[in-house]
Amino acid sequence: MKESDIRPEALFNRYLELSANDAERCFSGISRHSIPCVGCGGNQLKPEFEKNGFGYASCSDCGSLFQAPRPPIESFEAFYRDSVSGRYWAEVFFPAVAEARRERIFKPRAERLSNLCAQKGLVVERIIDVGAGYGILLDEWRRLHPQAHLLAIEPSAMLARACRAKGLEVVENIAENITGYQGVADFVVCFEVLEHVYDPLAFVRTLSSLARPGGYVFVSTLGVDGFDIQCLWEKSNSIFPPHHINFLSVAGFQRLFERAGLENIDITTPGVLDVDIVRNAVKKNPELFSNQRYLAKILADDALATAFQIFLAENRLSSHMWVLGKKPRQEVVHD
Ligand SMILES: [Zn+2]
Repeated sequence: MKESDIRPEALFNRYLELSANDAERCFSGISRHSIPCVGCGGNQLKPEFEKNGFGYASCSDCGSLFQAPRPPIESFEAFYRDSVSGRYWAEVFFPAVAEARRERIFKPRAERLSNLCAQKGLVVERIIDVGAGYGILLDEWRRLHPQAHLLAIEPSAMLARACRAKGLEVVENIAENITGYQGVADFVVCFEVLEHVYDPLAFVRTLSSLARPGGYVFVSTLGVDGFDIQCLWEKSNSIFPPHHINFLSVAGFQRLFERAGLENIDITTPGVLDVDIVRNAVKKNPELFSNQRYLAKILADDALATAFQIFLAENRLSSHMWVLGKKPRQEVVHD
């Protein structure tokens, strides 16, 4: 899979441009406040860079990178209610790539996830997908497991309609506001949402609340330890406010899931695009690798580049992270 298969350049650039406009329109003049690390909760932060008027800081303890100081939550809520870039993503960008993504992303994703459950001995009778989008993951899950009970949680009215059109049961709300589904799911999954959320700890706790004791919570997101993000840093197109504000490290995720009360935490990075993303960035801007002769040589050779991507994925050095945690059978009560 190539970056251009799932992220056509012209459409993606338009999305980034609209996001920069939204950053200015919805957040200029809004106050900012310091926040603790979104991964470990630590308070030793190091300012890293600014983008579209948003500062990013890293945690001296766990290495997570995140948007800080942060505007108040109300400004993010107002932004998501009236986001030109968000509408463009849902109405223009995603429909253009939906079928390509079904084949290249959602099918392999459902299969990999299914294998992961088998490895853990988890029998999934009820699965909840939080931020289900167009419902493609659940659609693919149903193909593999026709008997499973599926629930999509999706706040966008347009996307919720797309889920219903696939015959899925949908709760049209944000996960934090949902009542009546606590403790029901064997498996709660959430793809590519955590990088957007205001308070990752509260969010993972919400996911956990939907799982039954002994059930599992799964999150996939972007991680700061990944090759493309480490190489490109502030020039990475994955780091764009106001949408992408959290990039936890492997250590940060371990701490976050522990703080949310989860156990048996399993972190992998089965990414396939890091090398292609860096190659494309260097093609456009050769300056980026002016002093990186060794990496430039690896990336210039297709066979080496492929082997290198596998090395990254196997050593938790890709920016595409999968985090799995188990909800304890008995709630641990902290005094
Ligand atoms: Zn930290």
